[in-house]
Amino acid sequence: MTPSSSRLWLKSPLAVFTGNDLDAAGGLVITGGEIAEVLAANEQPSAPCDEVFDAGRHVVLPGLINSHHHFYQTLTRAWTPVVNAPLFGWLQNLYPVWARLTPRDLELATRVALAELLLSGCTTAADHHYLFPAGLEQAIDIQVQVVRELGMRATLTRGSMSLGQEDGGLPPQSTVQRPDDILADSERLIGEYHERGAGAVIQIGLAPCSPFSVTRELMAASAELAAREDVRLHTHLAETIDEEDFCADMFGLRTVDYLESVGWLTDRSWLGHGIHFNDEEIARLGAAGTAVAHCPSSNMRLASGIARVVELEAAGVPVGLGVDGSASNDASNMMIEVRQAMYLQRLKYGSQAVTVERALGWATRGSARALGRDDLGQLAPGKQADVAMFTLDELRFSGSHDPLAALLLCGADHADRVMVAGRWRVIDGQLPGLDLAGLIADHSQAARRLISG
Ligand SMILES: [Zn+2]
Repeated sequence: MTPSSSRLWLKSPLAVFTGNDLDAAGGLVITGGEIAEVLAANEQPSAPCDEVFDAGRHVVLPGLINSHHHFYQTLTRAWTPVVNAPLFGWLQNLYPVWARLTPRDLELATRVALAELLLSGCTTAADHHYLFPAGLEQAIDIQVQVVRELGMRATLTRGSMSLGQEDGGLPPQSTVQRPDDILADSERLIGEYHERGAGAVIQIGLAPCSPFSVTRELMAASAELAAREDVRLHTHLAETIDEEDFCADMFGLRTVDYLESVGWLTDRSWLGHGIHFNDEEIARLGAAGTAVAHCPSSNMRLASGIARVVELEAAGVPVGLGVDGSASNDASNMMIEVRQAMYLQRLKYGSQAVTVERALGWATRGSARALGRDDLGQLAPGKQADVAMFTLDELRFSGSHDPLAALLLCGADHADRVMVAGRWRVIDGQLPGLDLAGLIADHSQAARRLISG
């Protein structure tokens, strides 16, 4: 742990990706939880440092930022009945299982997801939690505690479902809530937990689940509340053609027209998936500054389609990266996700348009923009000291030449060291203070109980 007043020099890394034009070959000086100096090769810190960490074995990245997840789904990974199902069938099978979620289940699932993310080099995670069955009214409060326990940052979104099967929606009636209850709880959570400004640890966003599970009225009311409270808006949009057909039948609108009609076509919003947009819709999203969380593994797993990421960026849409929920990935590993994103997008746009640096940019600066965080996502003076460090001493890297490219091309999947706000949270590939074997045992037991009912 680095006391806030001490100065730490992460000296001369093997390779470094800053996410900007700065030369950081000489390393980083960290103090007070922030990056104080970025040093070029052979440059010395401007003042003596209390501690020097020789990073000569490490490839250094800004802490990875996950912009879309559903932590609770770690309890339903690789569940046989939905292994080969598309989105709507997958959801209809899983809703009744998820409706049994208890506070203890969510606590374990959140701890597993965050531990897995952190070990993969992720320092900030967004979660979209939209299940509040009787007894789980404190879902977000539970998540806040686990985030704090692991020493990460999170944007926890207060999700919601209000359009049940009886009213033409997809989820069972037992899983939906009254709009007044949703909005009152959203206000409570913002008041209790939302931190503003640089260095925030917990932020709260509002996140009606999807066009097929919430009413138009709740979408519009959520946008009004988010504007009044100055918090971000998140939802799933344009994930599948089934969703596009649903919007046409239910609202008589395409997805982006629907989004605009409820007041969401703004730079306050970021959208999970964002796959099925036409040229005109991409231009409108870019003009509005609405962001997209690209989720390549989930999109391939459910065969939902390939997001038009390069065209979205060209239009001005901030693009971040998300692992999506662990029932459709089924890993919570940000490094694997960067590799998947690079390869999926290369199939669409070619290898020269989708470089290693571009893919890493989605997982760092892009995700930071999606979450509205200009204090995260790059290595530069004044930014938060959130850093992920990888070594290349495993078999899979043997014989590799370009250290940064090797991370993605050889398939790095766990960090050796991770720092959040200047404090080490992963050391030698381990999470100090967390009994991982005990967690796996408890979580596995909860998963079995959840499925068996
Ligand atoms: Zn999702």
